[in-house]
Amino acid sequence: MSRNAESTAFRSALEVIRAVEPRVADAIGAELTDQRESLKLIASENYASPATLLAMGNWFSDKYAEGTVGRRFYAGCQNVDTVEALAAEHARELFGAAHAYVQPHSGIDANLVAFWAVLADRVESPALKKAQVRQVNDLTEADWFALRRELGNQRMLGMSLDAGGHLTHGFRPNISGKMFDQRSYGTDPATGLIDYDRVAEAAREFKPLILVGGYSAYPRKVNFRILREIADSVGATFMVDMAHFAGLVAGKVFTGDFDPVPHAHIVTTTTHKSLRGPRGGMVLCQPELADQVDRGCPMVLGGPLPHVMAAKAVALAEARRPDFADYAQRIVDNAQALAEGLLSRGATLVTGGTDNHLVLIDVSGYELTGRQAEQALLDSGIVTNRNSVPQDPNGAWYTSGIRVGTPALTTRGLGAAEMDQTAELIHTVLTQTTAGANADGTPSKAKYNLDAGLADKVARQATDLLATYPLYPGIDLT
Ligand SMILES: *Cc1c(COP(=O)(O)O)cnc(C)c1O
Repeated sequence: MSRNAESTAFRSALEVIRAVEPRVADAIGAELTDQRESLKLIASENYASPATLLAMGNWFSDKYAEGTVGRRFYAGCQNVDTVEALAAEHARELFGAAHAYVQPHSGIDANLVAFWAVLADRVESPALKKAQVRQVNDLTEADWFALRRELGNQRMLGMSLDAGGHLTHGFRPNISGKMFDQRSYGTDPATGLIDYDRVAEAAREFKPLILVGGYSAYPRKVNFRILREIADSVGATFMVDMAHFAGLVAGKVFTGDFDPVPHAHIVTTTTHKSLRGPRGGMVLCQPELADQVDRGCPMVLGGPLPHVMAAKAVALAEARRPDFADYAQRIVDNAQALAEGLLSRGATLVTGGTDNHLVLIDVSGYELTGRQAEQALLDSGIVTNRNSVPQDPNGAWYTSGIRVGTPALTTRGLGAAEMDQTAELIHTVLTQTTAGANADGTPSKAKYNLDAGLADKVARQATDLLATYPLYPGIDLT
């Protein structure tokens, strides 16, 4: 396929948009420039392929398609059926899953679908049984009351937030923390690693209905075989949220005990992080949960997004190609090179390194908060995000960590040498930044001092680093 085709497609699209609202066309163009020029180390972001992006911009967006393939509540869904079935087939083949549900609009939505599927499957409720067999009209008010009482307040055990867990794993700011009685397992304070004996102990004491594995900010592999054994020992359903590392599972970097799909009853994911697809979510599950999962819309989700399902089919087809496995391996190689580069310059890393796509820098070693470090790096053209570290003294807002990830830069083609240079830039900025003070002289957790000349110099070095690896080399909007 000619690179010219990509330029023509995006240029023409912008021309059509410009005729209606030029400011939107300008913003889309400006976003490409910004993404091209910044050193993107946000662990949850990536760059989807032009084919994936183009699959989203069309009339599939106009279709309503509630229901499932071949069983829709709307007429005329034959083409939506084609793309949804394709996306699900690619997902099953790619991950070796018995069932794939590709309708969730995001990772959080996928988790809600999974939670309701597990509740519906597991909770012993005569009222629910009636509701399940579609005798909804036969349910009395007392049945509904019982159903609400029985479904609420079930127990969930997940990874604690400051150890890298996700808000949707039962934490109070999220609906999951209001639905479930939640306990969390943390990491060993000495090593920063999950202590499986303590997870087992917590499970024995708490007897959760659902044990959740998966994370947003844990830089190590997780042994899903052991977590499944723990779940089985207490009769819990084992769910894994692989939102962050689905690309490493797809690319067969995480296999055996570290591949969640053969071990979990149900697996949720986003499609836009390391998997490099469109923004969206997905649920994979064992056959016994499939019926409940397929009720995601309209139980939990709004109408499916057929244009995004089309893009999921494209991205999953890409992920099944051999070069995706190379990509996934390079993500991890790059993260390890970045970790080495930081360690050799004296940085402190949570767990002392990484075996996945992310590195968590404990910036208290630089006498900064995560917020100060994040802003100072941003001033210097390096895009990261602040993140809690285990037992973080600065809480979830200011934090003491910076999370950096390699999926995006690896897509651009940067390798180990560039990761070492990136480490040098990060270390330079963090050593040259000092904590600021409030007006009354007390130490501030947000203000910082960084010489503007140095920030500019680093920003230029970051741009130089990227110059050899253009983003979307086939797209020229000029
Ligand atoms: C990113 C993430 C999500 C949420 O995904 P959205 O698409 O933003 O809703 C859920 N779980 C984990 C573990 C994540 O990292």
